[in-house]
Amino acid sequence: MPAKILDGREIALKLGEHIQKEVVHLKQRFGQPLCLASLFIGENPATKLYITAQQKVASQMGIEFQLCHFPKNVTQKEILKLVDQLNKAPEVTGMILHFPLPEQIRRSEILRRVSPLKDVDGLTPENAGQVLLGHVRIGSCTAQAVMELIHATKINLRGKEAVIVGHSELVGKPVGLMLLEQLATVTTCHIATDERGILADHVRRAEILVVAVGKPGLIKGEWIRPGAVVIDVGISRVDGKVVGDVEYEKGEQRAGFITPVPGGVGPLTVMMLMRNVVKAYKFQRVKEA
Ligand code: NAP
Repeated sequence: MPAKILDGREIALKLGEHIQKEVVHLKQRFGQPLCLASLFIGENPATKLYITAQQKVASQMGIEFQLCHFPKNVTQKEILKLVDQLNKAPEVTGMILHFPLPEQIRRSEILRRVSPLKDVDGLTPENAGQVLLGHVRIGSCTAQAVMELIHATKINLRGKEAVIVGHSELVGKPVGLMLLEQLATVTTCHIATDERGILADHVRRAEILVVAVGKPGLIKGEWIRPGAVVIDVGISRVDGKVVGDVEYEKGEQRAGFITPVPGGVGPLTVMMLMRNVVKAYKFQRVKEA
């Protein structure tokens, strides 16, 4: 039997209704709009698509949107100056910095400079550290989207074999910690796992499989354990088509649940960003929020 499709758009729509209402309520209560600032350096087409989606969903949610776009030769000093301004600006609720960054920009220095109260991508040391402590305050949008999709299956994660492919700070690492918090048995695979030729062995064991690499077809359909929950985070463009990291047609025949690409993790990630803006607004005004 083919897998059940985990429709990220549908889940995002439901969450969006709740967020919209909360935004109306917060604006009435505090008399100030919510505003997301999006920092974009260079011309990466995938980032442009993500920003277009942010702009559209922010407007649907009643959240203002400010695009801060820089050419790829921008200096570290200029970016730090902007971060300082956004940290101080009372009208800005939160900021997100887009990757990849050009070589001259040092990511960790910038992330250390962003106020944790305005870090709506959950990547500052403070917010990322909270995930380690099992306490997601403002967490990575993509990692939270992955967890929402897994929860939508209603599968009890306790003791389940969870395999994550990819160990980035944005996706693989926080997802691993969040799954561990639910007492899944977590294995994280990365480039060296593949180099040793044992990626397939790990994937075959996975009852929960999360793949976040960005290499189309990396995960072969026949590796999928029958009945597994498969969350494909990868986004690549092949012959003008957007595809994930998992061989979808074959994977769908074996998995119990699977996310489509596009239409799985992506739409939910944007909605998680809006949820983080709402959280940040509350943290800035109500200590116990
Ligand atoms: P990233 O920072 O480039 O991380 C990719 C990870 O994959 C790294 O940990 C890398 O390991 C690992 N890797 C590379 N080749 C591998 C291989 N052959 N076998 C196993 N692991 C391998 O990327 P990211 O930011 O996590 O994003 C991953 C993918 O998700 C991209 O396609 C991105 O566009 C997509 N994405 C989608 C969303 C969404 O909302 N749908 C959000 C964020 C990202 P090493 O570092 O050790 O090489």
